[in-house]
Amino acid sequence: MDLTTRTIWNEELAALEGRGLRRRLRDMTGAQGRKIILDGKEVLNFCSNNYLGLADDPRLREAAVECIQKEGIGSGASRLICGNMAAHRELEAAIARFKGAESCLIFSTGYMANVGIISGVFGRDDMIFCDRLNHASIVDGIILSQAKFKRYPHNDMEALEEMLRTTTGFRRRGIITDSVFSMDGDIAPLDKITELARKYDCLVMIDEAHALGVMGKNGKGLAEHFGVEDRIDIQMGTLSKAAGSFGAYCCGSKELIEFLVNKARSFIYTTALPPAVAASARKAIEIIRDEPALRQKLWANADYFKKAIAASGFNTLFCETPILPIVAGESAVAVEFSKRLLEQGIFVSAIRPPTVPRNTARLRLTVMATHTRGDLDYVLRKLEVTGRDLNLI
Ligand SMILES: *Cc1c(COP(=O)(O)O)cnc(C)c1O
Repeated sequence: MDLTTRTIWNEELAALEGRGLRRRLRDMTGAQGRKIILDGKEVLNFCSNNYLGLADDPRLREAAVECIQKEGIGSGASRLICGNMAAHRELEAAIARFKGAESCLIFSTGYMANVGIISGVFGRDDMIFCDRLNHASIVDGIILSQAKFKRYPHNDMEALEEMLRTTTGFRRRGIITDSVFSMDGDIAPLDKITELARKYDCLVMIDEAHALGVMGKNGKGLAEHFGVEDRIDIQMGTLSKAAGSFGAYCCGSKELIEFLVNKARSFIYTTALPPAVAASARKAIEIIRDEPALRQKLWANADYFKKAIAASGFNTLFCETPILPIVAGESAVAVEFSKRLLEQGIFVSAIRPPTVPRNTARLRLTVMATHTRGDLDYVLRKLEVTGRDLNLI
């Protein structure tokens, strides 16, 4: 390796380090549960998206093993060549049935779903309206689509309406929003968004990554919560968070799905999911459907935790979900907060720019259905003492 190349990377890394933005991988051992082994030490896990604890559920393991026995490991090719296996079709049918959607297409990841759907549906002659806090994969999809786009201030419906009113002359227009915002834990006003979309003749696409299994009476997501399923053209979500598995889906009309099979490059030009992954995701969808008690436990934990944190005086933004941000401001403070909690056996990640806007570095805590009241109380005590030490309350 060339010495000068090393120098380039070292300088870049040092610059990131200097701004408190350098990221490092942490080493976990064993399965994902309410406790995990981090660098050889058992810690309480408060930063996983495994909301319902399904990532190490024995039933998901069994479903995967059973499928491996039947269908093997690899899928051999893309879905359009010879990779369209039974496990994929069964998963798509199960998701469509659960969501009450006409049709469903699975993708390998949420990132790939967003990139493929958005760049397939929109092009040069189109205009996209994008919430300022949307997930990075949505932004990347928009850039790849080459559509014109405007970012509206977070959840600001007046600003969105003004943009819709004054931006005409495009072939196609679309509003794209996260349904649950992954770093703030608040929700998009889908009632108003769908109303505006109707008024201004605009497509709506939502990303239910943090909403599937969490939001809505039956865990179908935020569209269910607002009762607007039939007003959303493109419902995307992931199988990697509450569903505890891996992959992503897009639900919509039969025609949309046929179109994506032909046009979504991240679907066409990639190998199909390993069938066992699809089988475990299908089991997760069944569990979400049949066991509302899991979701109720998640919400009981989230409500209890959220009330206590707010009462301590932390800035928790407007969180309305099991995602609880505690804003620290400076990246260095967020990092120090996280480090001190880890010394006390609590794993919470510090989230820094560019993932969140400048000066809003934060701890992002996620509550799980499997946390015990004892876990929550322990963390609350430690948060309060450490937060006071750092002058955050
Ligand atoms: C996690 C996430 C994704 C990406 O999903 P993966 O399956 O992890 O690639 C997309 N959108 C949002 C809002 C997310 O939170």
